[in-house]
Amino acid sequence: MSAVQHSALLPTYPAPRVTFVDGHGVRLVDDTGRTYLDFAAGIAVVGLGHRHPAPLAAAHAQLERLWHASNLYATEPARDLAAALSERFGGAQAFFCNSGAEANEAALKYARKATGKSGVIALEQSFHGRTTGALALTGQPAKRAAFEPLLAGVRFVPPNDVRALEAAMSDGVGLVLLEPVLGEGGVIPLEPAFLAAARGLDALLAFDEVQTGVGRTGSFFAFEQLGVRPDLVTLAKGLANGLPIGCLLVADDAAGAFGPGDHGSTFGGNPVACAAALAVCDTIDEELLGTVRATGERLRAGLAELPHVVEVRGRGLLLGAELDVQAQPFVDAALDAGLVCLTSGGNVLRLAPPLVVENADVDEAVAILSEVLTA
Ligand code: PLP
Repeated sequence: MSAVQHSALLPTYPAPRVTFVDGHGVRLVDDTGRTYLDFAAGIAVVGLGHRHPAPLAAAHAQLERLWHASNLYATEPARDLAAALSERFGGAQAFFCNSGAEANEAALKYARKATGKSGVIALEQSFHGRTTGALALTGQPAKRAAFEPLLAGVRFVPPNDVRALEAAMSDGVGLVLLEPVLGEGGVIPLEPAFLAAARGLDALLAFDEVQTGVGRTGSFFAFEQLGVRPDLVTLAKGLANGLPIGCLLVADDAAGAFGPGDHGSTFGGNPVACAAALAVCDTIDEELLGTVRATGERLRAGLAELPHVVEVRGRGLLLGAELDVQAQPFVDAALDAGLVCLTSGGNVLRLAPPLVVENADVDEAVAILSEVLTA
């Protein structure tokens, strides 16, 4: 397999090794016609699988009606999606944008306006996006270094360290931002006691559910399994099954800080993306969430038996297998063997297949990984 040349693209990603041209369900097809089992789902995005009929039909129907009108006017898909998300949350208002980073920018601005405070507590190893605000909240110094100075007043504490969290709190902190499972920083699940301590602080509590949300962990929001309700939630990745969308949800209890002119986005609430997202929300029912939990357990058990695996972490179908070696060579070898998967941090193999993955697919993926890790 030779590197695909993309000389007209800025090299912000490693040179890609494959060009995908087609996808169906949990399978991707490259430009030579080869089929792959997709356990990356576009980095936890294509939750219902490629070309799922529900968002496909909804997006098609909306494409035939209205593509864009601007947020100066109401559109039915954005209104209906906001209502659906509010119902899932149990009372919230939505701001729509186009990505996870933008959703976190919105959360940051909302917290500043609501509290009048600019301090933020975030986690070491966290990832919240690449725009300058979201990057300032990202607890990975290597990603920030070339772009300093970034926003001041952000304190990072180690995940699940309640003492450090409480020590970092001060009068100037208005926002605590947490990923329920740190998706890019090694697949680290936060413990309920840590989240409860965060809830106890005198600041707005935001959960970045860009990666964990929309069913990925076996509940619509990951926080539903953790006993803590946040003030703010950010969503993106899986929300429209691959069309660009981001969302800030503000709990009704924390409502009222934003008014006209405080924030905006030309493309936010795009009717086609929102129509697809509404179909995604309608499709993620209790039965599918139960399947996510069950197939997640099967995958977890399979991974635990593999060579080099030190620990398996995560929730639902967001799983990380920590290896005693670097993960990237095995991700490359898996791709050569027909399995698409991810890393998370240097030595963690990350699996985030479509939520509709079946037992046979899980067994096939584990068999490929077993071969690759044994070689
Ligand atoms: N937050 C989390 C938890 C993420 O995993 C990501 C992307 O990986 C982001 C934010 C940034 O999302 P986007 O790439 O859509 O800006």
